[in-house]
Amino acid sequence: MKIHEYQAKAMLQQYGVATPKGVACFSVDEAVVAAQQLGGEVWAVKAQIYAGGRGKGGGVKMARSLDEVRQHAREILGMRLVTHQTGTEGRIVHRLFIEQGVRIDKEYYVGMVVDRQRQRVCLMASSEGGMDIEQVAAEAPDKIHKVFIDPLAGLTQQQAQEVAQKIGIPAVCVPQAAALLQGLYRAFDGTDASLLEVNPLGLISGNQVIALDAKMNFDDNALFRHPDIVALRDLDEEDPLEIEASKHELSYIPLDGNIGCLVNGAGLAMATMDIIKLYGGNPANFLDVGGGATAEKVTEAFKLMLCNPKLQTILVNIFGGIMKCDVIAQGVVAAAREVRLAVPLVVRLEGTNVELGKKILADSGLPVISAENMADAAQRAVDAARSHAAVTGQRLS
Ligand code: ADP
Ligand code: MG
Repeated sequence: MKIHEYQAKAMLQQYGVATPKGVACFSVDEAVVAAQQLGGEVWAVKAQIYAGGRGKGGGVKMARSLDEVRQHAREILGMRLVTHQTGTEGRIVHRLFIEQGVRIDKEYYVGMVVDRQRQRVCLMASSEGGMDIEQVAAEAPDKIHKVFIDPLAGLTQQQAQEVAQKIGIPAVCVPQAAALLQGLYRAFDGTDASLLEVNPLGLISGNQVIALDAKMNFDDNALFRHPDIVALRDLDEEDPLEIEASKHELSYIPLDGNIGCLVNGAGLAMATMDIIKLYGGNPANFLDVGGGATAEKVTEAFKLMLCNPKLQTILVNIFGGIMKCDVIAQGVVAAAREVRLAVPLVVRLEGTNVELGKKILADSGLPVISAENMADAAQRAVDAARSHAAVTGQRLS
């Protein structure tokens, strides 16, 4: 799960991380009032979307008068903001953050992610902060310093000071920067974050470091212990199909291919997508119906996949262990009837009651393409998608 910059900053403040003062706003008038209340002479007017690169896309603008605040707020609110992280379709801006504008002497980069291989949180820091960190990572990776944090010891003062020194923070600020880095780690750890990025960490007034941007993602599997974070969820920023899927306890991720996959178990779902690729096709989605799929759940899964205009074929790949093949076959038949399925349907069933399951499909009168094994299923799905695309005149993706 992701949250907005202003929410991440509020969270970081609770862990002692300094940020400029700011107010979240939903209208142009609110933005002007917020700037008035904040006082000062310069304000940052910042689009709040779940994607970075806003500055370059025109979503972060500095205002030197209340009139300018109004003008920028008017431009940014409601705009379709396209950044390198949004894709070409961009995101409509529904919220603004009005923040005190600070004079920045230097911009640094700080990020934290979980390094699964080392089973530790990796702190990354660089002297080259600001809007081009991707370029630094690609062209001068030696300018990014990494520390792997021992989960029992946490980020020690010594480690934090060393990092601050390595990225060139002036000596006078090193103790404060080190404390800030430790605060960031405590925030990461305390909220079960999966990613935390402060880019830029700004040096201001020559003697203070402060988080000027903040991005936080959280581990969905730990959200059950953070109801306060779940409450921050902004559905405007999430894919409507993923929201619908989560209502039915389906894990659904839309992709850009044309073969819809309905699978039980995340591992088998991944393997199914791999084998589709191996046979020259492209999956339209990842979809795990879980271990206890009912006919209703399968119907919802069909409906989700059919929302995709690029869909050319559905591949159902079920290994019946706890879930029995006859139950899933009944679900598939009911779902195909209810949605009046108009794309080819390839089904591979294996496991408990498989013969009964196959009989239900065969007796249903539906044009189900039955597959013997995964390779056969992938080959048939790829062929079916190709022929269907040729018939409907759509381009294969
Ligand atoms: P993004 O990373 O999405 O482009 P940022 O929050 O990093 O958005 O803002 C882009 C740039 O705007 C920053 O690199 C910084 O130079 C500047 N900036 C952001 N917030 C402020 C602020 N409160 N005062 C002054 N400059 C700011
Ligand atoms: Mg930034």
